[in-house]
Amino acid sequence: MKTIKVHDKQFSIFIGSEEIDKSVSQIAEKINNDLKGKNPLFLVVLNGAFIFASDLLKKVNIPCEISFVKLSSYIGTKTTSVVRELIGLDEVLTGRTVVIIEDIIDTGITMGVTTEKLKKLEASEVYIATLLFKPDAFRMNYDIDYIGMKIPNDFIVGYGLDYDGHGRNFPDIYKIIEN
Ligand code: 5GP
Ligand code: MG
Repeated sequence: MKTIKVHDKQFSIFIGSEEIDKSVSQIAEKINNDLKGKNPLFLVVLNGAFIFASDLLKKVNIPCEISFVKLSSYIGTKTTSVVRELIGLDEVLTGRTVVIIEDIIDTGITMGVTTEKLKKLEASEVYIATLLFKPDAFRMNYDIDYIGMKIPNDFIVGYGLDYDGHGRNFPDIYKIIEN
């Protein structure tokens, strides 16, 4: 089995590029059917979703707009909880159909915070498209509209996802080998 080393950890091949591509095509097909005539605004969550978004949006063939956001994280001064702010968004969202493009949903907290912020900006509908979803880790109770693949609760890298800044450029997805 193909294994790679990223920093101090070993990873083994988990999802190959052909399987990823099939899953990306299925999401694109659903979006093309569901959101036709809505001129959706796709919001790509940087950094992790950049490769997924690029592959997905090449297969989206309906009129749409594309923009990019980032979630800043910093430790609040009075508490130790992590506060996340959406940065980089300069579109007016009032009345728009927004589709968030995310790499992976784990506990679901990040996406929960993001959708709440977008609804406050008066988007008329907010859809979520994620390539990967870890159902066993998910702790929220909102619906995820488009899911590429459900995966077990293991740490993965590749296809945009990093381990400590490395591994985003791998075309395949790798899973950590726990020792
Ligand atoms: P959540 O708020 O859903 O727990 O976390 C979502 C974020 O955690 C993702 O956007 C991603 O940045 C990171 N994340 C969750 N699971 C993994 C994983 O297996 N590998 C990597 N590289 N990042 C992950
Ligand atoms: Mg992410």
